[in-house]
Amino acid sequence: MDKKLPPSAFTSLGLTASLLRAITEKGYTSPTPIQLKAIPVVLAGKDIMAAAQTGTGKTAAFTLPLLQRLGGGAKVKGNHIRALILTPTRELAVQVGASVADYGAHLSLKSGVVYGGVKINPQMMKLRGGIDVLVATPGRLLDLYGRNAVQFAQVETLILDEADRMLDLGFSIDIDKILALLPKKRQNLLFSATFSDDIRKLTSKFLKNPVQIEASPRNSAAQNVKQYIYEVDKGKKSKLFSHLLRNRGWGQVLVFVRTKNGADRLIGELQRDKISAVAIHGDKSQNQRTRALEDFKAYKVQVLVATDIAARGLDIHELPQVVNFDLPKVAEDYIHRIGRTGRANAQGEGISMVSADEVPLLSGIETLLRKLLPREIETGFVPRHAVPLTKLLPAKVKKPKKKKQKPQGLQMTGEQKCGGKPPRRGDKVGVAENRPQTPKKCGNQHRKRGTAVTRKRSAPKSNRGDRNN
Ligand code: AMP
Repeated sequence: MDKKLPPSAFTSLGLTASLLRAITEKGYTSPTPIQLKAIPVVLAGKDIMAAAQTGTGKTAAFTLPLLQRLGGGAKVKGNHIRALILTPTRELAVQVGASVADYGAHLSLKSGVVYGGVKINPQMMKLRGGIDVLVATPGRLLDLYGRNAVQFAQVETLILDEADRMLDLGFSIDIDKILALLPKKRQNLLFSATFSDDIRKLTSKFLKNPVQIEASPRNSAAQNVKQYIYEVDKGKKSKLFSHLLRNRGWGQVLVFVRTKNGADRLIGELQRDKISAVAIHGDKSQNQRTRALEDFKAYKVQVLVATDIAARGLDIHELPQVVNFDLPKVAEDYIHRIGRTGRANAQGEGISMVSADEVPLLSGIETLLRKLLPREIETGFVPRHAVPLTKLLPAKVKKPKKKKQKPQGLQMTGEQKCGGKPPRRGDKVGVAENRPQTPKKCGNQHRKRGTAVTRKRSAPKSNRGDRNN
């Protein structure tokens, strides 16, 4: 028997009873802004280009109308798929796959997830009967296509999720190959946290008169996340982290580090401090990554240490604190990191530990955010190497010249350099836009230096990759 649906703002969006029922079971009472904007447009069959970070409810924004449209269509043939959702990482693929299964719980549509790093045979077997909605990472999808395990003639809808990260991870060529294989007549939905020139170039390749949707201000971090930095010497970061964890009453914390080695080093130091911590990064097997995430979600460990790439798309409910142990090299990654907290309107804190050598990176982030981050110094951790003050640079950051790719000796991402899988020819690595610039001059407008006292300072008014898939 069908459950009685409570009155919900979702009803006005034109979704069917089966989907509304699934939404109710998920506990959602009202649509998020991206859902309000995207669902009617997708239901109308239009292409969209949406600026939305993880945490905005973007998965439901494309999955709900997608499932509704597929509900009335032709039956899927063996080895065929009707909708393709491409994601940059395995973790995101798994998460999106779970959402598709949840939202489609009362529909008779088949869904599946394929990604690399695991055996291909079970995936080939699953595809034999045909799958209505396939969530895939690009590399594995092309492998499956190469083995005649998947055919695209029935594809009605293509969704690119976290398109910016796909380009960062060097999937540009794989995406082009996949685009060339799909039927010309189809609906295209592109979701990206940020819109660089490269993303715009990509969208112009395949989106037809897309409706542009923006769920949050462009290149902005979540408004409900309190962001601040701790000035600290590089060598004191792990001690400061342990100290804050204990003395600030932090619960579960997601900690970002720049490299795999850095992640392993920090885990060692935290374990010596008797803090339960696990790491996820590109050197970990898929099973290790899955287990680490499950343990963290189940509160078995307090601290999850992650590299940017491994953490991409993580959805952890009500994560109160995100800590940048190192600042990211690419300013936009700061926004992705901070997006792991303050989700679905919860309050969160984004805390960055900044040492003197990271000031150029800090400046780049502040320029992107269009604000200076308040600074604090913790008692007992006054830096010996002063962290110079920053000032806001003009909004338009000059795009550095792209390095010509050598025919041999491809560039590597930070993660690849540290032992990940080698990049393939044609991989585009590293994000050129918004590279932080060193401030020419340091102002004195937002920090007064103090001694061994925690000081709160307010900002002035003025002022890649997981190729292992
Ligand atoms: P996403 O941006 O798709 O990764 O979703 C972020 C989180 O928000 C997920 O845990 C979803 O289950 C949750 N979510 C999505 N839509 C809603 C909604 N309308 N109300 C409450 N939570 C939601």
